[in-house]
Amino acid sequence: MNILLLGGGGREHALAWKLAQSPRLSTLYAAPGNPGIAQHAQLVDLDATDHRAVLDFTVRHSIGLVVIGPEAPLVDGLADNLRTIGVPVFGPGRKAAQLEGSKGFTKDLCQRAGIPTAAYIRVTSKDGAIAALDDFALPVVIKADGLAAGKGVIIAQTRDEALAALDEMFSGAFGAAGEEVVLEEFMTGEEASFFALTDGAFILPFGSAQDHKRVGDGDTGPNTGGMGAYSPARVLTPELERQVIDTIIRPTVDTMAAEGMPYSGVLYAGLMLTREGPKLIEYNARFGDPECQVLMTRFDGDLVELLLAVAQEKLAEHGPVKLADRTALTVVMAANGYPGTPEKGGAIEGIDAAEATGVKVFHAGTAQKGGVLVANGGRVLNVTASGASVAEAQAAAYAAVDAIDFPTGFCRRDIGWREVARERT
Ligand code: ATP
Repeated sequence: MNILLLGGGGREHALAWKLAQSPRLSTLYAAPGNPGIAQHAQLVDLDATDHRAVLDFTVRHSIGLVVIGPEAPLVDGLADNLRTIGVPVFGPGRKAAQLEGSKGFTKDLCQRAGIPTAAYIRVTSKDGAIAALDDFALPVVIKADGLAAGKGVIIAQTRDEALAALDEMFSGAFGAAGEEVVLEEFMTGEEASFFALTDGAFILPFGSAQDHKRVGDGDTGPNTGGMGAYSPARVLTPELERQVIDTIIRPTVDTMAAEGMPYSGVLYAGLMLTREGPKLIEYNARFGDPECQVLMTRFDGDLVELLLAVAQEKLAEHGPVKLADRTALTVVMAANGYPGTPEKGGAIEGIDAAEATGVKVFHAGTAQKGGVLVANGGRVLNVTASGASVAEAQAAAYAAVDAIDFPTGFCRRDIGWREVARERT
């Protein structure tokens, strides 16, 4: 079967690597891809925002499955358009992708379905928001409704900070994403992510992970797309996972189906493990990046078969997802300047030496320039190792990081720290 993979980050390299291991794959095409993805796929010049071009490509190349990596094409309705011409696609349609595309939509759904989450109010004007502020204790969480690449969430410690955040949101700084704002109660607890595949009716759990959003060691500095992750997140015990499926995932899938917008794809739940139990922070409509890299490292099965079962609504016929018990841990190597303006063009050497230690190095923002691999984005490489414990996986990942020569890059040195500390006790 020919497959088209859309996206060009570390997440898509991990997907390409796993798809390429399937005996069912004939040719894997990827757009835009990256030099790592090019080891497994034929890169094609295809713009995911040009739906007509994508549809034409699938027909011309007899594509049997389209895998959409990032959120923007999903929220933009690419999956719907592919389905109208009968192409199986992994990823939700536009209406279902609102679970990621509109925070207000998801909060309302939680309310209708009785899903545990923070108390909230949706507001569409600054005056309305200021009036609503009085209903919340401090700190208060202020979110732009739409996609803002992880930058549209402000935790205001004081009323003045809240007013400044509202000023910024309603000033148009977030474009259409900030025309509506959600005010939320601040929840306390440890965060973890849970992943479930669903074809709109059947649910297959796909494991847990914990990521590291802040740029600096000890969770300091500005937020990023993610500086590292590990899986499983043992803080999400089997009992808690069951609770997450019963109280969050199952009611979401059922309500979406009952309301005529069945969700098909991977449902990525950002959770707060509070004293009252797990509560939903947010949904994402795709695999996380870098969480996908650790999930794919643990996944022991045929990814083509699995994603096709989702796309063809045959998940009930598929057995449970098998994930290795071993921990996978990934360290993101980023270009200096990230998450601000990353330095582009810095040379990278030593990936073969790193992989010789037994790790897998996924490419994110890399490019080939005159036969040299260079940095070409904020997050550049994901050095991914396995181990019997988080400490073991962490040691293996950093030994490999140290074999990579990337003078204009940096990484956090403490990925997995919470779990490493727990393992010591
Ligand atoms: P992402 O980068 O994960 O896509 P996002 O912009 O979609 O982020 P959220 O995940 O909703 O936004 O929030 C980002 C972070 O803000 C969360 O990971 C969490 O740390 C914090 N946060 C969000 N909502 C709350 C809340 N109600 N209580 C406490 N912390 C929260």
